[in-house]
Amino acid sequence: MGADMTVARVFPRRTKATPTDDYAFIGDPGLFVPDNIDEVHVSVAFTWDLPEAERLAASWSRIAPVKIGGPATGMRGEEFIPGRYLRPGYVITSRGCPNHCWFCSVYTREGELRELPINDGWNLTDDNILACSESHILAVFAMLSRQKERVQFTGGIEAKLLKPWHIELFKTVRPKQIFFAYDTPDDLSPLEEAARLFREAEYGSRSILRCYVLIGYPGDMFSVAEHRLKTAMRLGFGPMAMLYRDVSGVTTPEWRRFQSLWARPRKIYAKNTETEVSDS
Ligand code: SF4
Repeated sequence: MGADMTVARVFPRRTKATPTDDYAFIGDPGLFVPDNIDEVHVSVAFTWDLPEAERLAASWSRIAPVKIGGPATGMRGEEFIPGRYLRPGYVITSRGCPNHCWFCSVYTREGELRELPINDGWNLTDDNILACSESHILAVFAMLSRQKERVQFTGGIEAKLLKPWHIELFKTVRPKQIFFAYDTPDDLSPLEEAARLFREAEYGSRSILRCYVLIGYPGDMFSVAEHRLKTAMRLGFGPMAMLYRDVSGVTTPEWRRFQSLWARPRKIYAKNTETEVSDS
């Protein structure tokens, strides 16, 4: 793509991460599309949006040549360009992950972990930042320490890789939130160890230390999912339920309702006042 090309980015749906500039569009071209668009990129994050992405590609082809890309297509992510497919502030400094979690497409899409040039941003969404080299991690935290906005780690930190020196780095950037994950039973022991390291370092509260908890996957039950969520809370993590979807994206109303109850910290804490975890 030429450096001076004007590219419209088109998204099947808006999320918190979707850019909002004049060349970012949701859905079909409206009445007032700038007339200097050279190329259209339909960016699709979720596999269940692929049919809509195909439809949008046809619809936008009357404006300019169209390409479809994004994680849902299975295409490997290339260099990260701030603000292009993610709202400014979001940043990716590495792609890929050495693990092969059954519910995750990162390793099939991205392959081996790759460290990328480090751009500025305050919401780090790398697949597995702690799997990167020490020099890369140090350079990323140096970048984060320059940011004016509160730093967030929403890509998910792998508890198994957490070391005391990482916690000292987290302290230096005073993050708003650091997300871990409790998806399957084998995550529990590393999460317990991470909680112990944070306690020893006298750092973290459950508003800062958050935990994605995958729920509703095949074989999961409400009682078991609730136990995982409450266990995350007991360990000192503010849980956020993430509803499993297969490639079709189909979910049941019962699991959606359960997820919404466990997605917002205030709702969670109001419902679980008996928990022993303090929110200091
Ligand atoms: S550790 Fe995270 S990024 Fe890596 S394969 Fe598992 S879920 Fe995906």
